[in-house]
Amino acid sequence: MSATLATASYIGATILFILSLGGLSNPESSRRGNLYGMIGMTIAVLATVFGPNVTSAGYGWIIAALVVGGGIGLYASRVVKMTQMPELVALMHSLVGLAAMLVGFANYIDPAASAEFTGAAKSIHEMEIYIGILIGAVTFTGSVIAFGKLSGKIGGKTLLLPGRHWLNLAGLLVVIWMGREFLQAESIADGMTPLIVMTVIALLFGVHMVMAIGGADMPVVISMLNSYSGWAAAATGFMLSNDLLIVVGALVGSSGAILSYIMCRAMNRNFISVIAGGFGSEGGAPASADGVQPAGEVNPILAAETAELLRDSKNVIIVPGYGMAVAQAQHTVYEITKVLRDKGVNVRFGIHPVAGRMPGHMNVLLAEAKVPYDIVLEMDELNEDFPDTDVAMIIGANDIVNPAAEEDPTSPIAGMPVLQVWKAKTSIVMKRSMATGYAGVDNPLFYKDNNRMLFGDAKKMLDEVLTALKA
Ligand code: NDP
Repeated sequence: MSATLATASYIGATILFILSLGGLSNPESSRRGNLYGMIGMTIAVLATVFGPNVTSAGYGWIIAALVVGGGIGLYASRVVKMTQMPELVALMHSLVGLAAMLVGFANYIDPAASAEFTGAAKSIHEMEIYIGILIGAVTFTGSVIAFGKLSGKIGGKTLLLPGRHWLNLAGLLVVIWMGREFLQAESIADGMTPLIVMTVIALLFGVHMVMAIGGADMPVVISMLNSYSGWAAAATGFMLSNDLLIVVGALVGSSGAILSYIMCRAMNRNFISVIAGGFGSEGGAPASADGVQPAGEVNPILAAETAELLRDSKNVIIVPGYGMAVAQAQHTVYEITKVLRDKGVNVRFGIHPVAGRMPGHMNVLLAEAKVPYDIVLEMDELNEDFPDTDVAMIIGANDIVNPAAEEDPTSPIAGMPVLQVWKAKTSIVMKRSMATGYAGVDNPLFYKDNNRMLFGDAKKMLDEVLTALKA
């Protein structure tokens, strides 16, 4: 393939990626967006493999890598459960970081790559390598820790080392100093030491940064690491002089940054204080992840009574959360919705920006169950409607409906906007036990007079409600 054709293919792929991002901004066009992305990526891979920078001697390696990588990807996407999706995404981000790191080292020790540059160009190239490895290393370990936290392999509690801000600052100064040493190094062997010292600091910083973030702040970390992985890819693009990688990396990096900003705004949190970490662990009441004592009596309800309440309602708002994903209850939820709507009940869904374990988690599940988009509303669109709602049905959600966020300034989740389900005439919380949610805080909603608890697995309980409704 000629260089011109490769460039033209890259431009085509870039346009498809931009269209893909545009499509993904709306549930109705998201399938099309995905399709554009897939076509763009196929073109990008073909144009790179058959492009001017790959000689036929490299095909064996590329095919072997494609078979191994593609095989693992295919296997992972087949066996992964919907609830493990966020962990898989975190793991994939870590691979982007690892790749950026390895490409950086390979590029630095490759005599052919370094011979290409002299004078100022050489310094710029080395700076690209240094920054690329730095971002890659932070993304790599940060994402691995995020994976551990999301999958429950590492506790959600924040790890706060004494003087952690000073530690980070000291690390930053050493990284800057090492950068200077690296740029001034006479030979590859001389430059290796500062490069390795910086890499170790960056790897440790990635661990430290994500370990210090807890409570309900993890969503911001996930989208931030998504953004970092984009910048890591862009840095790799600079190292390899690959324009497409630079553009795609920048697209992912900036869209991830915008998403982080939107999430912070939705949660009424300041981006810097999220990154500084330790939310809910300083001042006020301590974040109590374990051993939260139930703070009162709760009123249980049976599935049949729930069905009766729903049948007698005019307005119902369903609030899905992480537990609906675990129980895979979305299809039954929709069956119930259909029955109620046929009886003339106005049923709507209230989606909190951080419900579940990844951005858009609930929207994906509800779309999979074919719930019409026009009854799926964002928190801000229906939060004022709860006083006119007969039943608010909370399915496997906890933190996102916790009144303590509004009422208790010492709560670890104070200030986070929540769905005000307690203002409905009756709220029904469907979960298996009195266990806390992701943020590890007790929920005063459970003890309110107008609240009922429907204990059990969400899918099982909803099946019972559906049977009772149809009877
Ligand atoms: P929560 O984690 O607060 O609560 C989920 C509840 O579901 C649990 O209390 C659990 O209670 C219940 N549950 C679990 N399995 C089942 C089941 N099979 N049937 C019925 N109930 C079940 O989830 P929310 O969606 O309310 O809030 C999301 C939380 O996750 C927030 O704190 C958010 O910050 C955090 N987060 C969000 C991310 C995102 O991007 N959206 C990313 C990372 C974290 P029980 O065990 O008693 O059944």
